[in-house]
Amino acid sequence: MIPDAASYRLTNVRLHASLTSGLAATFDSDGFALADITVADGRISSIVAHGRSKTPADAVDLGGRIVLPCFVDCHTHIDKGHIWPRKPNPDGTFMGALNATGADRAARWSAEDVARRMDFSLRSAYAHGTKALRTHLDSVAPQEEISWPVFETMRDKWRGRIELQAACLLGIEGVRETKWFEKLAKRVADAKGVLGVVTYMVPDLEELLDKVFSEAIKHGLDLDFHADETDDVAAISLKKIAEAALWNGFEGNILVGHCCSLARQPDLDVLDTLDKVAKAGVAVVSLPMCNLYLQDRRGDNTTPRWRGVTLLHEMKARGIPVAVASDNTRDPFYAYGDLDMLEVYRMATRILHFDHPVGDWPQAVASTPAEVMRLDGFGTLAAGGAADFVVFKGRSWTELLSRPESDRIVVRDGRAIERKLPDYAELDELMVG
Ligand SMILES: [Zn+2]
Repeated sequence: MIPDAASYRLTNVRLHASLTSGLAATFDSDGFALADITVADGRISSIVAHGRSKTPADAVDLGGRIVLPCFVDCHTHIDKGHIWPRKPNPDGTFMGALNATGADRAARWSAEDVARRMDFSLRSAYAHGTKALRTHLDSVAPQEEISWPVFETMRDKWRGRIELQAACLLGIEGVRETKWFEKLAKRVADAKGVLGVVTYMVPDLEELLDKVFSEAIKHGLDLDFHADETDDVAAISLKKIAEAALWNGFEGNILVGHCCSLARQPDLDVLDTLDKVAKAGVAVVSLPMCNLYLQDRRGDNTTPRWRGVTLLHEMKARGIPVAVASDNTRDPFYAYGDLDMLEVYRMATRILHFDHPVGDWPQAVASTPAEVMRLDGFGTLAAGGAADFVVFKGRSWTELLSRPESDRIVVRDGRAIERKLPDYAELDELMVG
């Protein structure tokens, strides 16, 4: 369907207003317009409204199929990915996940083990149409000395296919080990990484956050937090992060993930927090599949009553940049998942109501995370940009989001890639014992 040629024209292509720049067309109420895309030497040379220019005889008619830019997945854990068969979560709770993962990490996470599972994850993400991905790396000693070199090797290996970023991950209590944390921040800076911690409502939270911000400022690092992944209304670390950003005059990018407890708090508290988050320029990523799995699991044979996700609509209404991402895949924090951002978007549509109207929600898996990750030109289709896009069967949101679209076509640098998902059996030998 996609010509194996340096230059070609695709005609009768359905593009979305929120993910296309420079297309002068009339978009329908779902945000779509029909267009023609010309590809030359791996790049998009033009995007014009369908029917506005003469169609060459050899143009390929896509019959109104939806074409979206390649995805950007800004919050994953590919160092943890796929350990489920050897270390399942015993009860599906957050504590069960934390303990199981900690035990597996201490016992099994050699450089080879981490590298093989990371590569498996990246092959899946690539086959599903992802072009950039940020992973957190468990950086509790001595794991940081194992995982960061693996990340650097993997980033080089995947350059040109997946733009790989990493953020360190540790409980904020670890920041109390001042010398060790300063060394970690330096290691992260040397790897051109992102400084990240998991915040908990510890008594010295403000002091510890100040230390995190001062290290980020010292090394010119962006920040990436896990915050308030709980239903406990007393968890207000999102607000504390925004306050710390303001009083430290932080100018880098800040991404905060989860923020589940916000959805349980009284309206007045929520408004105060959102004001501060907006003022501090903090971006928020929701992890809807992982939240649905871990949150409101009470372990007493009761049925979950809430979805676990944070207040993305209210955030977006205030101009806070919002994204959704994969989070964990087949590990104790989430038993499922394959780094398929169409699945994430499909699930987010159901869980978070990204519909009626769809509006610019598709940016949450493309251009918004690209901006947070400082990836110019990613997540948008534009003349002059890379010809990196996904061709779906669906011609409308209801068609696109009703089937897995396993037969989607992923085009990179103008050519359809071989979409080969790795076989689970490849990892069997890592799962023994
Ligand atoms: Zn996470």
